[in-house]
Amino acid sequence: MTQVKTRFAPSPTGLIHFGNVRTALFNVLLAKKSAGLFLLRIEDTDFERSREEYIQALQEDLRWLELDWQEGEAAGGAAAPYRQSQRSAAYDKYLDQLQTQDDVYPCFCSAVELEVSRKVQASAGKPPRYSGKCAHLKAEEVAQKKADGLPYTLRFRMPKNTALMFDDVVRGQQKFPSEDIGDFIIRRSDGSFAFFFVNAVDDALMGVTHVLRGEDHLTNTPRQIALLQALKLPVPTYGHISLIVDAHGAPLSKRSGSLSVQELREMGYFPIAVNNYLARLGHHFVETELMDLDALSQAFDQSHLGRAPARYDRGQLDYWQAQAVQKADDDALLAWLAPALKGLVPQAEMAAFARAARQNVIFPHDAKLWAEAVYADALPVSDDARAVLEAAPSNLFRTAVDALSEDMDFKAFTQRVKQASGASGKGLFLPLRAALTGQTFGPEMPALFSLMGYARARHRLMQHVLSSEID
Ligand code: GLU
Repeated sequence: MTQVKTRFAPSPTGLIHFGNVRTALFNVLLAKKSAGLFLLRIEDTDFERSREEYIQALQEDLRWLELDWQEGEAAGGAAAPYRQSQRSAAYDKYLDQLQTQDDVYPCFCSAVELEVSRKVQASAGKPPRYSGKCAHLKAEEVAQKKADGLPYTLRFRMPKNTALMFDDVVRGQQKFPSEDIGDFIIRRSDGSFAFFFVNAVDDALMGVTHVLRGEDHLTNTPRQIALLQALKLPVPTYGHISLIVDAHGAPLSKRSGSLSVQELREMGYFPIAVNNYLARLGHHFVETELMDLDALSQAFDQSHLGRAPARYDRGQLDYWQAQAVQKADDDALLAWLAPALKGLVPQAEMAAFARAARQNVIFPHDAKLWAEAVYADALPVSDDARAVLEAAPSNLFRTAVDALSEDMDFKAFTQRVKQASGASGKGLFLPLRAALTGQTFGPEMPALFSLMGYARARHRLMQHVLSSEID
């Protein structure tokens, strides 16, 4: 059996966003699950908009998400080069073959002519397709027009009276009558090749067996299959995954919250959180726990790819982020938090602090609040905490100061306060938390208490003794 080979073929005209990286992820999962290969090809045929910096950025994004490729850009392989801008020799060769077979013809129709024809078809309720005007020009006519310097495109002769059929991994059996497609352009008048052609030829030459890509490419597929059949090249298995939509059902855009992978990384998302969210966007998993890529790939099943549009939900992404924070090992947690806490938490206490704060952070900057709650000289006090402090019995903090001694842990301290004041439960713990941390919620008190130390705890309690005695 041939080894499964999947691929990701981005056009480097911008930073990678959610939608495109999910496509890469599904292809990685399918390859991993099948003990196959994943390939990265750069589709930089749009010379105006393609940029080297985007080629570099997308590789950084894929590596960050651990979506490693075994063949292609930077990795090399038997079908190199892997940038379309460097592959014209291969495209010329296959174009020659089509020309020899009389499967392409020059089309001299102008843009204005084509536009008029499209409008006429549209007003008659027909799908827009090329009329075939230049399909049967005589050799002398072609020669004359070329001699006159008329620009021309090359069109592929779509087989007539047939239907292009394929079994889509996601959408099932597909059938496109060839008449609805019409003869299409494979080389533009400026000499550049159309997407259909180079994408199909490359998949064949690179031995790609499975193409999972966005639903927006579904109608390109019959054209690509027709080309591959004419060239007698292998046709991959296609699967068109549903698009990602926003809360209103519109395609996800920058405006409706789509984030680039770079933004996600800078915000402090863990790659595993992004992968777990994306993998579930349009694919149903029975498993509900956080999984690494190997586990995700084992659980991945292409028949679980949904046809309905996948709805983007930032809350879900953050849910997976919270899971990732809880599951991160201590070293990873520390490396993730430390930059945000520099100067706020003593170096020697950083690891213990990170462990204490873990429950209450989703992003590194969230930990600043808890760093202040432990270490700030001028403790910020939330409105809720202020209300709790005002409602507390006036002698509670005096009792607490008297109960406090050096090297005492939180349990011993609260037991003493309880005995001496008679306060208990929420009536004891909430005012103490509010006085000691300036907040009414947060990480476990024993850990925060031991990090803040005797002197600071005493000082904080004293603030409330003084204020209640002055009142
Ligand atoms: N360069 C194309 C894109 O980014 C690739 C489409 C495909 O996966 O075939 O949309």
